[in-house]
Amino acid sequence: MATKIIKGTDIAMGIRKEIKQQVAKLKADKKRQPGLAIVLVESPRGRTHVAQLKKRICEAAGIYCELHSLHALSSQREVIELIQKLNQNPKITGINVHPVPKHIDYHDIVSHLDPDKDVEGVSPFNVGNFLIGDKRFIPFTPRGVIKLIESTGVEIAGKRAVIVGRSQHVGLPIGFLLLELNATVSFAHSRSWYLAELTRQADILVVATGHPEMITGAMIKPGAVVIDVGSNSVGTHLVGDVEHSSAARVAGWITEVPGGVGPMTMTMLLTNLLECCK
Ligand code: NDP
Repeated sequence: MATKIIKGTDIAMGIRKEIKQQVAKLKADKKRQPGLAIVLVESPRGRTHVAQLKKRICEAAGIYCELHSLHALSSQREVIELIQKLNQNPKITGINVHPVPKHIDYHDIVSHLDPDKDVEGVSPFNVGNFLIGDKRFIPFTPRGVIKLIESTGVEIAGKRAVIVGRSQHVGLPIGFLLLELNATVSFAHSRSWYLAELTRQADILVVATGHPEMITGAMIKPGAVVIDVGSNSVGTHLVGDVEHSSAARVAGWITEVPGGVGPMTMTMLLTNLLECCK
């Protein structure tokens, strides 16, 4: 069977087009408009270019977006005060907090988000709800990953899914969502022994480790659906956590980097934002 590429960019663009139409309809009907505030404390972890890209994508969809860039040395109190102001701002329906420098406690910051404006579902209230099955706000990347798997038409229920990576905002929620869709889910992490034995059993393999090209074709079950969440700069190139050249010879379906999970993550921000607004 020839490997099929899961076209993340095409799927993402199709969804963005629908969102643009929905936003235009809200405007025409004089209904409440979505509005995003991005909170960024400047540092390499904050990924300013991603915040700027989010703003451009919102604006292209006709969505109001404010980017709040705080100085790298801003205090915890200053960030919390900004969030409290945004919680009260009627023009803002969703708040997205970018990763903060180490002197700021991210968990404390997001605990001040109004849960109804917590567009990424990262406040303790929404994380707790997510775990007990109330999926109001699903984090962007996990939501995008599930949509990409569903786009293949491959049945998820009953399949063996292996998630390599167990971070709070990526690996773990992807596993929970797949479990809810009745896959049999295993997690692998940096302490897992016999990684290749595990990944070779996966009908659905999701890789999110931050290690360039660590999963090779020899570690993949023939015909598997492979989702490469990784996004690593190597020289002037962006590469995934899966070695695409060898993996594409074995997998049934596979995403590309770039053009796979990345555009879907951005698009799920818009989807969540529209849902926050409603
Ligand atoms: P984290 O560093 O938070 O987590 C990495 C996970 O990988 C950890 O659970 C870690 O295990 C596990 N891991 C590390 N080394 C190994 C190994 N050798 N074998 C098996 N597991 C290992 O990263 P993120 O989850 O934030 O991101 C992962 C990747 O996804 C990165 O490349 C990131 O850039 C990308 N990403 C891409 C997005 C997109 O939109 N395309 C969005 C978000 C992330 P342990 O828990 O034991 O430390």
